[in-house]
Amino acid sequence: MAEIADVIVIGAGANGSSTAFHLAQMGAGKVVVVERGHLAAGATGKSGALVRMHYTNEPETRLAVESHRYFANWGELVGGECGFRPIGLLTFTPPEYRDHLEANVAMQREVGADARIISPDDALALDPSLYVGDVTAVAYEPRAGYADPNATTYAFARAAMDRGVEFKLDTRATRVLTGGGQVTGVETTAGTIQAPVVVIAAGAWANELFVPLGIDLGLVPVAARVTLFRWAFDRSPKHLTYIDQINNTWARPVDDNCTLIGAESGVRVSPDPEHAPEAVDENYIQVCREKLVARFPVMRHSTVRGNWAGILMMSPDARPIIDKLPQHEGLYCMTGDSGTSFKTSPAIGKCLAEWITEGRPKTVDLTPFRSTRFAEGKPWEDEYNYGIARATISR
Ligand SMILES: Cc1cc2nc3c(=O)[nH]c(=O)nc-3n(C[C@H](O)[C@H](O)[C@H](O)COP(=O)(O)OP(=O)(O)OC[C@H]3O[C@@H](n4cnc5c(N)ncnc54)[C@H](O)[C@@H]3O)c2cc1C
Repeated sequence: MAEIADVIVIGAGANGSSTAFHLAQMGAGKVVVVERGHLAAGATGKSGALVRMHYTNEPETRLAVESHRYFANWGELVGGECGFRPIGLLTFTPPEYRDHLEANVAMQREVGADARIISPDDALALDPSLYVGDVTAVAYEPRAGYADPNATTYAFARAAMDRGVEFKLDTRATRVLTGGGQVTGVETTAGTIQAPVVVIAAGAWANELFVPLGIDLGLVPVAARVTLFRWAFDRSPKHLTYIDQINNTWARPVDDNCTLIGAESGVRVSPDPEHAPEAVDENYIQVCREKLVARFPVMRHSTVRGNWAGILMMSPDARPIIDKLPQHEGLYCMTGDSGTSFKTSPAIGKCLAEWITEGRPKTVDLTPFRSTRFAEGKPWEDEYNYGIARATISR
């Protein structure tokens, strides 16, 4: 006989696990999470995990501000550890976009972010190893930083399990079942589970579930790559997190002696997530070194200590799709993470759980994230971007 649940979540990354935790907290009944591998087996486990509120639009900023509240109060709101280190964030933007920077920081402050604009000299005081000759102003978020994406997912999952959620690991969802315009359950490699509500949070693998349902959201799996460099002898230990819109990179410290860097040019289409390479090539290491040295000249004397590639899912406008899908009653999704949806996973899970248990998302208005924006001819474009409208990891 088929197992019966109230809600099935497909995918145990940060977003699926957050959704499961919040569903349990809101009393959604029997919740089952189906995961083809292990916890954080997708983009989440490979994430740079920057936790910041600097976005160039209000809806994502709102998700980030609400999520930051979780990272900053993790023990109280979730329990366990998320490894959050609020060491600050500096955002570098081309000088010709100064008015955009000012507009964005003003918007961020309005929705609750602790954000401000500082001078290049102030930035230099925060990290004396910086090159700031190419900027006239820098955005600073003292309470931003980075977290441990695996620990975050484990903590969500542990808290969900403690509230009765069942996680079926090494179990693949092979098909979402529907009938009469309604979701009826999920077929998995370990049998069928019946449920009136299904949440697809399957990262780069989502198309294999959407296509048989006749749903085409224009999603494309892409690989994002990172390289790790040991700090040079004379690098200042005053290391923050950075988004560099001039060199199109992001960076953060690892183990208080290395810099992890990702370059926008390292993002490329990788159609088969099942067989995507997990390491980077020599060319990419050189690109990262060049860009790292451009912002931190002292790092020209640093040694490579590692690298990896992770696979994420781009939406057509590089913004996530978080929706109750109109095609089948009971079908919800968090998809098209577009390389930026770890930091927002607490709020995304909370909003989806509110939608399922209370009829609508209450914490943040998810209308801008609707799946139908493409069919409506209204793909998302930020008014105050910094020159690359559809950037991913360094946006
Ligand atoms: C190198 C890199 C750096 C990044 N840096 C940042 C950053 O600094 N800040 C930030 O906010 N974001 C960052 N991101 C993006 C962020 O990691 C992702 O947006 C986020 O982790 C997506 O989480 P998710 O739960 O939606 O998807 P995933 O983590 O991809 O989880 C999807 C899960 O679903 C499972 N699954 C898929 N198909 C099935 C199926 N059919 N049945 C069962 N299970 C299935 C997968 O195994 C996987 O575990 C980065 C990503 C990468 C790769």
